[in-house]
Amino acid sequence: MQTSLLINGHLVPGEGAEETIVNPATGATLVKIKEASVAQINAAVEAANKAFDTWGRTTPQERSLLMLKLADRIEQDAAAFAKLESQNCGKPYVRALNDEIPGIVDCFRYFAGAARCLSGSATDEYIANHTSMIRRDPVGVVASIAPWNYPLMMAAWKLAPALAAGNCVVLKPSEQTPLTALHLGKILAEIYPAGVVNIVAGRGDTVGSPLINHAGVRMIALTGSIATGQKVLQAATATLKRTHLELGGKAPVIVFDDADLDAVVAGVRMGAFYNAGQDCTAACRVYGSAKIYDKLVADLGGAVKSLKYGSPEDETTELGPLVSDKHRERVAGFVERAAAAKHAKVVTGGRKVTGGGFFYEPTLVADVLQTDEIVRKEVFGPVVSATRFSEVDQAVAWANDSDYGLAASVWTNDVRKAMSVASRLQYGCVWINTHFTLVSEMPHGGLKQSGYGKDLSMYGLEDYTVARHIMVNLG
Ligand code: NAD
Repeated sequence: MQTSLLINGHLVPGEGAEETIVNPATGATLVKIKEASVAQINAAVEAANKAFDTWGRTTPQERSLLMLKLADRIEQDAAAFAKLESQNCGKPYVRALNDEIPGIVDCFRYFAGAARCLSGSATDEYIANHTSMIRRDPVGVVASIAPWNYPLMMAAWKLAPALAAGNCVVLKPSEQTPLTALHLGKILAEIYPAGVVNIVAGRGDTVGSPLINHAGVRMIALTGSIATGQKVLQAATATLKRTHLELGGKAPVIVFDDADLDAVVAGVRMGAFYNAGQDCTAACRVYGSAKIYDKLVADLGGAVKSLKYGSPEDETTELGPLVSDKHRERVAGFVERAAAAKHAKVVTGGRKVTGGGFFYEPTLVADVLQTDEIVRKEVFGPVVSATRFSEVDQAVAWANDSDYGLAASVWTNDVRKAMSVASRLQYGCVWINTHFTLVSEMPHGGLKQSGYGKDLSMYGLEDYTVARHIMVNLG
């Protein structure tokens, strides 16, 4: 197993404290890894700055060709990546192999093309005899901080646009799930010049914090929690670093009378429970119109009950465990507190699964109120809430009544209602009659406390560039 860090083109063992990496499906130790020391973090940032002198001036074509090579290598090594991701996160192996790895490969291929397609306003004389043009240049050294829920995919979403734009990167995977990023390090070391990409593993306070506070870092890109986003903003103040924040979510799912209920149930069954609900866009907050609410809850309850959880190695498994026992306790706490309210009803699930691993039953809690904690806070587990609404305006107001603004979905067969509601929802993405469907060409990112960075798409690439004005006096 590749457990070394990547610093200045070399795979080197960490010199900091030892971290135990656990298989959440069994609770067993997978491997122990030494995290990066402060000296190693400094070396990584220095190497990235040194490499930037040359890398920042490579042509888009050169960067594109290396990225296509990277995509091919990941594709060739798909089974190994999927196995590591499955063991380290508890994801069903076939889902990692058939859903996540192709999406990751596509992300690198998309940005390999996008690198060659950046555009700006037309060169022109906005004052007589003075020609103005726009350049889009890389920012410099980017500290990229990834979460534990989709370790390799989040690493890809961060690395691909940053490298395509000509930046150098120091990537820190989550301390809980570093294995696929470290495995990727070996491939990156073979493809990229020394220092262009560096990987330092370790905890947030001991490795992440020195990294984001380093004066040699020009931009911090984080996918993580709101609390960590706030720390990033504090770290950015000293040297006015650019920040790119992708934070949590609490996706509302608005179901109108005229929706295709079978499609809604299938959409929520998949969109809320994929990755055991540990997803920032999870379809976790259902609002059902009064007329169809009871049937929706009954059908959804049956569908949730039918979800198969168990060993990630079993091809028929739909849900793996939660990432850690601590996280499972957190999820269980939300459901216990919700169930304690007289008005709420646990339709199905609501218990920890006994035995090895950190499994939690797929859960539906119905009849909850807009003011309930379970409607307002990110649970980040296999738990869906259902709330009855009576009018369109009430559904829109409740959906928008959230600290978060990442993703939402609207289910109706009336295109005018769908478009009108979509326009009023304060969410970075609104799906109509679907949920959870991502494409590399479209931006992923939020509003409000979900952050403001855009991943994927040309908007994501632009986030990693600086627009500069060059003016020539022709006189
Ligand atoms: P987290 O904020 O605890 O950790 C994220 C990363 O930040 C980890 O690598 C962690 O080590 C690092 N970190 C923590 N403290 C730090 C510090 N002081 N300085 C620098 N780095 C630090 O989040 P998590 O628990 O790993 O991930 C779950 C969260 O991520 C959820 O809130 C989820 O919604 C969010 N998320 C958002 C998206 C999105 O696209 N918007 C995608 C996936 C996950």
